[in-house]
Amino acid sequence: MTSHYIDSFADELGPEKIIHIYDPASGLKAIVVLDNLSLGPAIGGCRMAADVTTREVFRLARAMTLKNAINFLPYGGGKSAILCDPRSADRDRLIQAFAQAIQNLTEYIPGPDMGTDEQTMATIKEITGRAVGLPRHLGGLPLDELGTTGFGVAVAADVASQKLGLPLKGARVTIQGFGNVGKAAARFLAERGAKIIAVSDSQGAVFNPEGLALEPLLAAVGRGKKVAESGAGQPLERDALVGLETDIFIPAARPDVVTIRNQDQLKATLVLEGANIPITHEAARLLHQRGVMVVPDVIANGGGVTCAASELEGLSEEDTFHRIRTNITRNTEELFDRLRREQRPPHEIAQQMASERIEDAMAARASG
Ligand code: NAD
Repeated sequence: MTSHYIDSFADELGPEKIIHIYDPASGLKAIVVLDNLSLGPAIGGCRMAADVTTREVFRLARAMTLKNAINFLPYGGGKSAILCDPRSADRDRLIQAFAQAIQNLTEYIPGPDMGTDEQTMATIKEITGRAVGLPRHLGGLPLDELGTTGFGVAVAADVASQKLGLPLKGARVTIQGFGNVGKAAARFLAERGAKIIAVSDSQGAVFNPEGLALEPLLAAVGRGKKVAESGAGQPLERDALVGLETDIFIPAARPDVVTIRNQDQLKATLVLEGANIPITHEAARLLHQRGVMVVPDVIANGGGVTCAASELEGLSEEDTFHRIRTNITRNTEELFDRLRREQRPPHEIAQQMASERIEDAMAARASG
């Protein structure tokens, strides 16, 4: 039993603030969680959905604390939610009311998330002076258009390929989820000579053991076609993709797609987590035991958050790609080095790498 509400969340890292906002005039209901601010002000998405809970916002804020820290970014972790259906007629009014409500919360820098977009961030920036993920004409670096997360996945592949003795040229790659992350990962890996043998979306999958013709596939998807009807290969049942013989598997769709129920189907040598938490911790432990190498989400998909931070700092596209390459290379190398020494699952090691960086910053902050 906990005596106070905050006790049900609090641990050695945070959260520093949990804020519930209600504005009777506009009807705005919102939640902001600022988790750990030792490394700097919190960057984290602002989600718009009717059913988000305080616990969920806290968990997402914690994930940002760890992701910012492990990616060497001078920012803490935070997250917010505007409690409303994103299709609501009140949308614009609620976004404005939210921006006014967080105007003095200067330790929080919002970014886009589910249900919000660049235009939302433009509105918030106009009112508060703070936001990332802005439209290009306002100095934004459009991370999905640039494909920075997929680029980072390919950089993690570069390091893993060397460490595992798995050449990317000719490597078979299977990608679950062919949205912003999946498409960009496919492009950057194809540039390295890898063969994209199968991709899926929410409706189905497409497969060619000799490699899918990527440009026609991207063009078909760009015209709104589902991957299975793109004509790029033979259609496949969506979830059968997990069991294909492949060298590299990239989950880039949803959380918890690989669990203890299906992890034994996975035949890849290397898994690069493009999505957030696509593999449950229990499944990740079993994959580790049977020698499947997983580069965890906080490392492999760090290109997105690094792009957001770079936008805030006014970096050019070129410098942003350079920063992503440097940081993901360093993290993936450290992950492999520690794995050799520590024999623990990669997710535990990645968590430890992030925690150590935060603890160092907390100690420095405490000593003034
Ligand atoms: P997106 O909406 O552009 O694409 C998601 C894709 O997954 C779509 O093709 C969709 O049809 C497919 N999909 C949905 N359910 C599926 C299922 N059950 N099986 C197979 N495919 C399915 O999203 P995105 O921006 O590419 O993000 C993908 C994941 O990566 C999310 O978990 C997101 O949180 C995470 N992520 C994204 C970024 C980024 O820069 N966009 C950065 C870090 C992490």
